[in-house]
Amino acid sequence: MEEDKRRVGIVRDSLGGTGERCVSSCAAMPDDRCTVAMIRHNGTVNNRHGAASDPTWQDAAIAAANRFRHLDGASRDRLIGQAADLDRSRYWEGLDGLEVTPARRGHVAAHACLLTLNIGLGALSDVTSILLAPRSSMRTTRHRIGGSIVSEGEACVLGQALLHGPVRLSWSQISAESVSGAGTSVLLHEFAHKIDMADGHADGTPPMSTHRQSVQFESITGDALHQLRSGGPSTPLRRYAATNRSELFAVATEAFFLRPDSLRNSFPILYRALTGFYSQHPARDVQSVPERDP
Ligand SMILES: [Zn+2]
Repeated sequence: MEEDKRRVGIVRDSLGGTGERCVSSCAAMPDDRCTVAMIRHNGTVNNRHGAASDPTWQDAAIAAANRFRHLDGASRDRLIGQAADLDRSRYWEGLDGLEVTPARRGHVAAHACLLTLNIGLGALSDVTSILLAPRSSMRTTRHRIGGSIVSEGEACVLGQALLHGPVRLSWSQISAESVSGAGTSVLLHEFAHKIDMADGHADGTPPMSTHRQSVQFESITGDALHQLRSGGPSTPLRRYAATNRSELFAVATEAFFLRPDSLRNSFPILYRALTGFYSQHPARDVQSVPERDP
């Protein structure tokens, strides 16, 4: 049963910047939500050189690519190539003592590049660095709910995408999702946010070739948002998708790649819009399947 009660917002953080932090799901605490958090760079740095030449990187990236059965051999090869480019061109860091192994980098990079496979790695231009934390973190959150009334609570943060900043991911969540088959992915979710942010705005409409395409996409996601907020069936989108357009795009991206047949059946126009944007057709084949623990 979906019990998402999360909220999201554009927030001003203690660094003085404006960014969106989000949470895609939390098995331990359903009342998770986006929050304000300082990214702490006190972990182990593991970068400078690409890790793609390492056999364990290759194994992990290939296993991740094989998860998505709509990809043919040539597409998987291209995905691995993009993942290697992403790996060596971004800063990687392990937080709180987590070792950023080549296998972990390969797993993360391959999932990120599933999204960019046919639209180009430039779509992730807003990704400056990739931070891996061993587990989700708890944050105190405050939300203005009207006038001077502020709601305060604790949030379980699984992932964060900071505008013009890093992506922060919980490795425990990544690992759990890789074997659960639950149809959620903090990786796809957060990197979808980054693609949305490529034009400098976290508004749920990623950069499109023409203004007309952007307007059409906004109209389609607006209709889906209205449907969700009107109490219509949300499966395979989680209720969290109704938070705003930004979350709708991120959650819909998860469903597009992980539960494509269900998304096509329940939200056919949204599914078609995503096939147009990502230039992929995941529902043409059988549904994605869980993979082994990375
Ligand atoms: Zn989000």
